Amino acid sequence: MMARRCQGGSVLSAIAVAIAVLAAAACDSSGGQARDSGKADWQMQSDRMVKEQIESRGVKDPRVLAAMRSVPRHLFIPPASRDDAYGDFPLPIGDSQTISQPYIVALMSELLEVGPGSRVLEIGTGSGYQAAVLAAMGVEVYSIEILPRLCERARETLTELEVDAVQVRCGDGYGGWPEVAPFDGIIVTAAPATVPGPLLEQLAEGANMVIPVGNFYQELKVITRVGRDFQERSVIPVRFVPMTGEVERQGG
Ligand code: SAH
Repeated sequence: MMARRCQGGSVLSAIAVAIAVLAAAACDSSGGQARDSGKADWQMQSDRMVKEQIESRGVKDPRVLAAMRSVPRHLFIPPASRDDAYGDFPLPIGDSQTISQPYIVALMSELLEVGPGSRVLEIGTGSGYQAAVLAAMGVEVYSIEILPRLCERARETLTELEVDAVQVRCGDGYGGWPEVAPFDGIIVTAAPATVPGPLLEQLAEGANMVIPVGNFYQELKVITRVGRDFQERSVIPVRFVPMTGEVERQGG
């Protein structure tokens, strides 16, 4: 009898300890631990995104994979869609524009064939995410965004995240960034019908331009400068928002 009561007592005290531990954990999670578990949560989602959406489709460059794991994609996405940040699809970023699907960001980053110290021009800053991924690869990024509101927001996001290697210019990217040219890579994340001439001129010898070309049907192309010539190959069909501004006036 005694023994049984005693046993019952120890079960009760074990439950009491368990409740105390749970209560302590619950208290903690409203304080400092909340931030840590938030970080652990997005990191888990981002690791899974890289494994299931990017490596599985053949992207291999270790610098690209590491950058895609480390950049907090959710912080580039408006709060309303943030829960879907690591999904296998593009998302709205306001002003009828979109942040590309993670796989496309990784693929384009790999196709540039750039690394630490390279200088890359981006046309279409959008949220700033693609630029941040390149910066995480050690690249110096010069990015141009035509819509003032997106341009300002991207600047703010990149400043908050202390991404110093990206310079953002607000305006039409048609003419490129001649003061800094030639570039070791050019990435265009809005689709023109034809490739803007000034961008081709700003490509360094041996460098790649990664660009979606077309109207409704678009192809992702890699254009490489070889001396005074350009070699071009199509990679996959894609669907980007149109490149606007001067390129449309040129009928391109
Ligand atoms: N790279 C972006 C996604 C870009 S969406 C990201 O990581 O979030 C394409 C962007 O290109 C849009 O923001 C659009 O406003 C911009 N754009 C379209 N035409 C442009 C032009 N002529 N010059 C600069 N930006 C342009």
